[in-house]
Amino acid sequence: MKDPKDAWGLDVPGYWDPIEIMDPEERRNRIWETLKKQLTYVWNHSLFYRRKWEAVGFHIGDLKSWDDFERLPVTTKDEIRRDQEEYPPFGSNLCVGPGDIYHIHGTSGTTGRPNVFAWTKEDWSYMAKSHARAMWSFGLRPSDRVFIGSVFSLYIGAWGALAGVEQLGAQAFPFGAGQPGQTDRAIDWLMTLKPSAFYGTPSYAIYLAERARQRNIDPREFGLRILFFSGEPGAGIPETKRLIEDAFGGICVDTGSMAEATPWMSNAECEYRSGMHLWQDMVYTEVADPVHYRPVPFGQEGTVIYTHTFRRAQPMVRLLSGDLTCWTNTPCACGRTYPRLPKGIYGRLDDMVTVRGANIYPSQVESVIGEIPQLSHEFRIVVDREGPLDQVTIVAEAMPMGDKVVIERRLRERLKTVLGIRAEVQLLDYGELERTEFKARRVIDRRRR
Ligand SMILES: [Zn+2]
Repeated sequence: MKDPKDAWGLDVPGYWDPIEIMDPEERRNRIWETLKKQLTYVWNHSLFYRRKWEAVGFHIGDLKSWDDFERLPVTTKDEIRRDQEEYPPFGSNLCVGPGDIYHIHGTSGTTGRPNVFAWTKEDWSYMAKSHARAMWSFGLRPSDRVFIGSVFSLYIGAWGALAGVEQLGAQAFPFGAGQPGQTDRAIDWLMTLKPSAFYGTPSYAIYLAERARQRNIDPREFGLRILFFSGEPGAGIPETKRLIEDAFGGICVDTGSMAEATPWMSNAECEYRSGMHLWQDMVYTEVADPVHYRPVPFGQEGTVIYTHTFRRAQPMVRLLSGDLTCWTNTPCACGRTYPRLPKGIYGRLDDMVTVRGANIYPSQVESVIGEIPQLSHEFRIVVDREGPLDQVTIVAEAMPMGDKVVIERRLRERLKTVLGIRAEVQLLDYGELERTEFKARRVIDRRRR
């Protein structure tokens, strides 16, 4: 079989593109040249950005240095939503004519009006090539058979995985998810086809493993070598990663930025799984302070901001994710010189619940739950107001053989240490909490009613 790398005229063993191991300063200079072209394109074609920048007195001719770029105002998802309401359906950031639109996707719209995204054929091809590169770094090869266990609808995750697999020249097995009875059929097909790789959300993989065990099938029998994920932070949480790797016997790889910033594999772990690399030449990614939105030094915490280095239909410039992480430039065993997110994306500014002055992230609770083997992976965080005081209850499930009193005590103690406040614990029987084939919703905040 022809190695897809041949098409790129490159020959760097282990790497798809030499830019991955380039001196970081040299790469930054290269990215700067690409970024300048992209921002000029945006200035010339996007009414949305032209207005936004003119409002702060910025003209494209002023863009001389990284500092000028880092002073550009951030864009929020809400801003895009409002703009699309005003200029339906694509908003004033659509930079191409109707004849150039190749695909239309959108956000799930579970909270308010969904955002709509247009792709040109060039955009799609750029995504495919970017994803193939990231997939190569975590070990996918043309001989792999890739089971895509994710919803094929407006959600770009499944399509992005498919485009990458096709570009890589591997075997695409776009099974999907979300239909009644589909998990059982997935198990049958996994047993019959024995794919070597799996894509989905971490909560779905965990549910799939549970369901298989209920049918007396060990998930290791699927023979999966690589499981890669996006859509949720779980694959970057050490306890969840270990749980998935133990269940399936393959490596668990965390990837993903946000739908609006696609190609979303511009954040992706390599086969060493030491935190997602920021493939900044694919999408220029900064970790910035959440007040002034200027990049923070390596080693510090901030929120992630994305800028397309290539996007024709609906380019994003300094798109604010609201995701929390910290970044580092310490070397990775793979030799790639990109910055890394050693703890993954561990929180969202809007997922965070503040209870009696303490900030609680679902990922913190997920890591505590994962430490205790007598608990299933499912949980909910319920916040109530009792009189003047906020009360937080962690609802979890005890496995059938566990001693509930002992488990409850251990859970309560660990939560106090990790969260810094006292949390109530409610233990249900195994299987009582609803499972998801897509993204889990963990927080129930009753104070908002
Ligand atoms: Zn690496």
